[in-house]
Amino acid sequence: MEVFVGMRKYGYEQVVFCYNQIAGLKAIIAIHDTTLGPALGGLRLWPYATEEEAIVDVLRLARGMTYKAAAAGLNLGGGKSVIIGDPKRDKSEALFRAFGRFVQSLGGRYITAEDVGTTEEDMDYVHMETGYVTGASSSSGSGGDPSPATAFGTWQGMKAASKEVFGTENLAGMTVAMQGVGHVGYHLARHLRDEGVKLVVSDINAEATTRAREELGAEVVDVDAIYDVPCDIFSPCALGASINPKTLPRLQCRVIAGCANNQLLTEADGDAVTARQILYAPDYVINAGGLINVADELEGYNRDRAYKKIAGIYGSILRVIAIAKDEGIPTYRAADRLAEERIRRIGEQKRIHLPARIPG
Ligand code: NAD
Repeated sequence: MEVFVGMRKYGYEQVVFCYNQIAGLKAIIAIHDTTLGPALGGLRLWPYATEEEAIVDVLRLARGMTYKAAAAGLNLGGGKSVIIGDPKRDKSEALFRAFGRFVQSLGGRYITAEDVGTTEEDMDYVHMETGYVTGASSSSGSGGDPSPATAFGTWQGMKAASKEVFGTENLAGMTVAMQGVGHVGYHLARHLRDEGVKLVVSDINAEATTRAREELGAEVVDVDAIYDVPCDIFSPCALGASINPKTLPRLQCRVIAGCANNQLLTEADGDAVTARQILYAPDYVINAGGLINVADELEGYNRDRAYKKIAGIYGSILRVIAIAKDEGIPTYRAADRLAEERIRRIGEQKRIHLPARIPG
């Protein structure tokens, strides 16, 4: 694979390959764009079959973080890192400390965090070598598990979408069909239950559905049947690509609003959603609560301040809808516009000359 071809396509700034024989470290750090601030994004530990697969993944994820942070109004850029390895076999103190030293060598251009395959304990090792890490128990003021924050933000985004489509942000009496009641889905379902929503859920994990039924009074349907549930809002909270040519024709909702990443299989599915006159709340805008929560750690975590910012997802979704209407484009494209426009406008401000500090 030609790495520079990939970098040029979407304007990546920097890709760092990190190796340490004793620790068995093979890591890649990708920094997509730092116009708005340091690149923040998690460290994924995954047994990639090939190096090319790892490079493609880290580049894709880093770019996604640029858009997510920009649309969330954060002063952060986009980055991500991967370690090629098996989370069950290859973790060690040396591995994460070696990685931490490479993060430190970037001088704050990249800030790491937990992601798939890494935990708070792993971040503690990273933190022994660098301060450019969030989510370590040893760092001052950790925001803890991001799932409740993501759920809170998704709930706010759902209300905004409802305001647009149903003329009210009050969800009481509505039916929400939720695919996946895991970490985020469960917390989201609790907010909805408290508001008086009728919940219909599915999950491949029977424990998760039992909990939703017993604790939250949710109706449980088979995994595949969730697409056929007559509802006001369909909420994808499991894995990606659940909106695709096979599932979309079955949906009986007017809004799609959930926390899952990469909900659209392809952009064409985003166009098809619009053609069916269903309002899609773009995934990376509505599910930014966890990122906003983590970003707050950089200022010394304050839960009230973090949740106040997360509540801003309501306004972000309304802005996306307004752009989509003004420009006659689908909401997934409008989200990209929102992010790109903010990067462009704030980037322009950096042209204003500031006198250098006089040494001494
Ligand atoms: P999770 O693994 O705790 O929950 C996902 C749930 O979906 C699990 O209970 C799983 O059994 C279920 N599931 C998997 N396949 C399914 C299927 N085909 N049908 C029904 N259920 C299925 O993960 P999570 O942390 O709750 O994250 C959920 C989604 O939100 C993921 O796409 C994740 O990338 C995204 N997300 C999470 C966060 C966060 O803070 N955790 C932040 C942003 C985005």
